Order: sequence, then structure tokens, then C-alpha cells
Amino acid sequence: MAAPAPKEPDIPTPDASTVAASKRIALIAHDNMKPELIEWVRTHRSALAQHDLTATGTTGRLLEEALGLPVTRLQSGPLGGDLQIGARIAEGAIDLVIFFWDPLEAQPHDPDVKALLRIAAVWNVPVACNLATADYLVSSPLMASAHPRILPDYEAHRNRLVGSPIAP
Ligand code: PGA
Repeated sequence: MAAPAPKEPDIPTPDASTVAASKRIALIAHDNMKPELIEWVRTHRSALAQHDLTATGTTGRLLEEALGLPVTRLQSGPLGGDLQIGARIAEGAIDLVIFFWDPLEAQPHDPDVKALLRIAAVWNVPVACNLATADYLVSSPLMASAHPRILPDYEAHRNRLVGSPIAP
């Protein structure tokens, strides 16, 4: 008789619930882009104060200084901070990303940057990669209100048949 299928591990995952009015926002800026991000957060301080802020290490320190608001600080980006934000996205713990990556300078952690942008696309998490998009996001009526989360359906992917052991 075939062994019973292993139980699915209990992994936190984004669910199709509501995105709360108070958003969980991740902020990251590469070094050359930090002044732009700091100026942007100063401009939008009162809007950002309504939300829960998380950032990579150095960006987070500068944000706390600029805003005087609490920021959850993860590792510095090149030390794993981008991947930590990616992991939180995969667990449904980040609603929005402001990521001013540097289009003119290669980074030692380019693969991590790509991984973060990719996983945000997987989970349909909005990402602003420049000032113009960040302005659109922060002025969206969705920023200040609860709204349904639109999640892609990955059931077919989860249930696909691959590598099943052949019964003896
Ligand atoms: P930092 O990391 O905030 O620690 O500078 C940002 C990044 O380079 O990803």
C-alpha cells in the first residue's frame, strides 16, 4: 500500500483577506538613491506616520533620523536585508514596497535585488522603484483605506504532479 502523502507544512502565506488601512510598507534605497528617498519620506511624513514601516539596515537608520518615527530595521541590503523583505512578502507580511534601486551602478547583491523584485511580482505586491511611482502610490485613495487583496491563484502550481515516486 502506498504511504500516505506527507502533510503540507504550516507555512505562513499571503491570504486573500483585506489589506488594512494601515499598510506594512518596506523601504529600501541604494546608497546613491538614499538622499532622494529621505527627501521623499520627509515630504510624505504625515501620510507615512499612519503606516507600519520596515527597512533595510542603513536605509532604516536614516529614515528613523529623518522621520522621528519607529522603523523596523532588518539587515543591511548587501548582508541579506533585501532577502528578508522578500521572505516577509512571501509570508504576506508586507503590503507595499518603496525600493529606489540604483539604475546606474551595479551592486554586489544584484541577485538579491532581482529576487526581491521577482517575489513582489509573484505576490502582486505594489512596488515603486522611482519618485514618480512612489508619488502615485502615496496619493492613491487605496493608501488610506482598507481594500481587498488581489492574489494570483497558485493552486494549480502547488498541486502539479512532479517527481512522484513510482510505486514498486
Ligand atoms: P541598506 O541596504 O539600507 O542597508 O543600505 C540597501 C540595499 O543596498 O539594498
